[in-house]
Amino acid sequence: MGNIILTGDRPTGRLHLGHLVGSLSQRVQLQNSGMYDEMYIEIADSQATTDNSGNIQKVKDNVIEVALDYLSCGIDPKKCTIFLQSEVPELSDLTFYYMNLVTVARLQRNPTVKQEIVYRGFQNTLPVGFMTYPISQAADITAFDANIIPVGDDQLPMIEQTREIVRTFNRLYGDTLVEPQAVLPQNTVCHRLPGTDGQAKMSKSIGNCIYLADSKEEVKRKVMGMFTDPNHLRVQDPGVTEGNPVFIYLSAFSKDKHFEEYFKNSETGEIEYKNLDELKAHYERGGLGDMKVKKFLNYVLEDTLAPIRARRHELEKHIPEVYQILFEGSEKARLKASKTLSRVKAAIGLDYRNDYDLINSQVEKYAKLHAEAETEKKTKKR
Ligand code: ATP
Ligand code: MG
Repeated sequence: MGNIILTGDRPTGRLHLGHLVGSLSQRVQLQNSGMYDEMYIEIADSQATTDNSGNIQKVKDNVIEVALDYLSCGIDPKKCTIFLQSEVPELSDLTFYYMNLVTVARLQRNPTVKQEIVYRGFQNTLPVGFMTYPISQAADITAFDANIIPVGDDQLPMIEQTREIVRTFNRLYGDTLVEPQAVLPQNTVCHRLPGTDGQAKMSKSIGNCIYLADSKEEVKRKVMGMFTDPNHLRVQDPGVTEGNPVFIYLSAFSKDKHFEEYFKNSETGEIEYKNLDELKAHYERGGLGDMKVKKFLNYVLEDTLAPIRARRHELEKHIPEVYQILFEGSEKARLKASKTLSRVKAAIGLDYRNDYDLINSQVEKYAKLHAEAETEKKTKKR
């Protein structure tokens, strides 16, 4: 079997820097490397309804936002199948069968779901659908026989849950499903990019994001308001770079060329800081102000985001075509998922139409019953 890639995002907001470094950049790289056989990208609108049942409009409105973000980051619909989860009902069928292979206790142990429940303040209003979304992700992955899943590290428990479902299924019903592998970004700071507020994860649902579609002014405002080392009060104070989101973002986005461009003295030609290590060292020993570092970060982010923003601006003039890409992708995805569902149902033994043994055995059973009844009748008559 070759390489089949599947990833996705919930249309609960526009995509942000966390998505870019955690998953999107890897997808584009994989896509452009050509080292794959099939690549699927899911806009997980059904999953997004599990914690937005009272606000479906938000989910619907964000479908186009996510699609525009994909295309502006370089996802090419000629190479990838971009589809809408709700357009592929076979995924719900698969979810239903997989639900029987997972215990409630196992779901309750999922650390990402646990944390998300706290963030959302669910307590005893937790919807069953939200609790079971890791099972629906297993359906999404296995429906396409995907074996490579580029994700941020919050998704590792989901991939592990999928692997467990695959193993249980194959043990019970024979070798049917493919076990997937999570692929994390090479740069470890990109596994889980923190929020601008310093919280552990930049997340749409927390609202601590720099969005790919933010204007130049918004990016600047957010960067300038970022959380840094709270004890670095005066420029001359030594500062902490570890866990400091400004330095984490620099580590995720800055390249040596940015240092050459930004810190070059136009008169002497000297470069004040040649790389991130030099900048960090100065911050740590004191004498480097937050403002200077933030201005540099803003420059780096602008260099990354300006081309994405420009492509998005063009794509925004072609909204119907973007929807068309999603509809065509969904049809293609449905074709594949329905093949998997047939395979799964056959493995479980729920394919009545092709189960001639079952029909014949029922014919035989009733023929035998009738014959026995007939014999009994005759014996009684005698
Ligand atoms: P929500 O808050 O609605 O769950 P989200 O911001 O967590 O939204 P998802 O759509 O759940 O985004 O995540 C899509 C993909 O992006 C996943 O692979 C996830 O690991 C990755 N991702 C999301 N946020 C980050 C982040 N801060 N750092 C790295 N990867 C991330
Ligand atoms: Mg999430």
